[in-house]
Amino acid sequence: MNVEFMAYQMDVGITIFGSSPYPEWDYDAIILEYKQFIENNSKFSLNLTINKYPALANGEIGYWSGENPPCYFMGWWDLFNNTQLKIPNNVQVNIVPYYYNSVVPICWTAGTWGSDYGMYGKPWVSQPFGYGYTSFPPWNYHAAHDMVHEWFHALDDILIKLGFPEFPAGHDIHDCDSMGYIIENGWADCYKYYLSTITDQMYQAIQSIACPQLYTNMTIS
Ligand SMILES: [Zn+2]
Repeated sequence: MNVEFMAYQMDVGITIFGSSPYPEWDYDAIILEYKQFIENNSKFSLNLTINKYPALANGEIGYWSGENPPCYFMGWWDLFNNTQLKIPNNVQVNIVPYYYNSVVPICWTAGTWGSDYGMYGKPWVSQPFGYGYTSFPPWNYHAAHDMVHEWFHALDDILIKLGFPEFPAGHDIHDCDSMGYIIENGWADCYKYYLSTITDQMYQAIQSIACPQLYTNMTIS
């Protein structure tokens, strides 16, 4: 029996600045885990634009001196002009992992600015990476979990812009704890549940703003 279904295209840019010698920062494996988690648990087909560049200059990494303690976090406006040119525009979300090497701590393991604040009017995921992460099951890589988590924030932003109510409906992605999912063994289950609530209307709306030449039709048997 042939089962034909539509894979709904979503275009995601992943622009990595720098690399880490530590195996927990193997971005090829991290990106694969992120992509497979979304695609195995939804109707999305992620079309990834992946670019790798040398590490950012210190002056490009945002530094929030007003925070207590002061910490690093990076908006696109922190990047030098010639670095900004490396960020793809033909995507729906930009994810930007960047290596930092400093005694100054990072503010969060990752964070998302909505499209109102993102470069080219796209959601902007900032993901600093360095040392000292341990993963927890079922994730092979902590950073893959972070990437999936921030992608949910970006998806929420896109759906609101397309006229849908906040996603996931009635919940924030941070409600996994209060819904009874325990991060050490279950936030993946929480994310799977959220993915299961995406309606065809939502998929179609997101597809409608995908890069049209990349439209995908998949057949499995
Ligand atoms: Zn979050």
